[in-house]
Amino acid sequence: MWFSTFLELLYPSHCVGCGIALFEESSLCTSCWNQLPKLSEYYCPICDYSLPTQHAHCDNCTDRKLHFLRALSAFRYDGLVVQLLSRFKYAGDQSLKKVMGELISHALSRESWSSLSLRAVVPVPLHPRREREREFNQARLLAQEVASRLQLPLEDLLSRIKATSTQVHSHRKERIDNLRDAFIIKKKIFKKTKLLSGNYLLVDDVLTTGSTLDECAKVLLSAGAQRVWAVTVARSYRQ
Ligand SMILES: [Zn+2]
Ligand SMILES: [Zn+2]
Repeated sequence: MWFSTFLELLYPSHCVGCGIALFEESSLCTSCWNQLPKLSEYYCPICDYSLPTQHAHCDNCTDRKLHFLRALSAFRYDGLVVQLLSRFKYAGDQSLKKVMGELISHALSRESWSSLSLRAVVPVPLHPRREREREFNQARLLAQEVASRLQLPLEDLLSRIKATSTQVHSHRKERIDNLRDAFIIKKKIFKKTKLLSGNYLLVDDVLTTGSTLDECAKVLLSAGAQRVWAVTVARSYRQ
């Protein structure tokens, strides 16, 4: 008894999934961590979409030319991941920033980034109006975690100039049309450097059709970036 009280003094935290006291550094207890929805056994080598066998790309990636080389997600957009992301994003629960860092580092662990010569980490921007309403950009908070874990600079290179509908609920074609020309390179970047160079890593919370990341990657490439990768916390299996 005294021992567990002593541990609670040392680690006075609770699991952000189920609320039990934690005697370790992580934000989730082992049981909640094990409940996180894994990606499907076979997945698209470009966008992580589920596949019946591991040999081809998904229809989504075969259909069109994507501008990022690879998007890696930590988990499927389902169950506890949906709950944690909604609390983080819509309820503005900033105490979840630490667990978000732990989740996205699971995606980072799937690639050896040091060999890719990345120049910087770039958050997917929110439209300024949405950011004012929400008071923060969840992708930027995630990008800060990614930048510190990979020891890379964070560069806010993009602006969102079109407000789009809430993405998770709209259809694929609608989303792709909606997002066309939704992003630009920030004007002051051009004033400073004229052109980008090197490789970049985009960060967002959820990948659904990949259209948002694709549009952002397109803008980075057209401004001179060489190659673009992406990481997200969750991969939705709705297309
Ligand atoms: Zn738990
Ligand atoms: Zn794919």
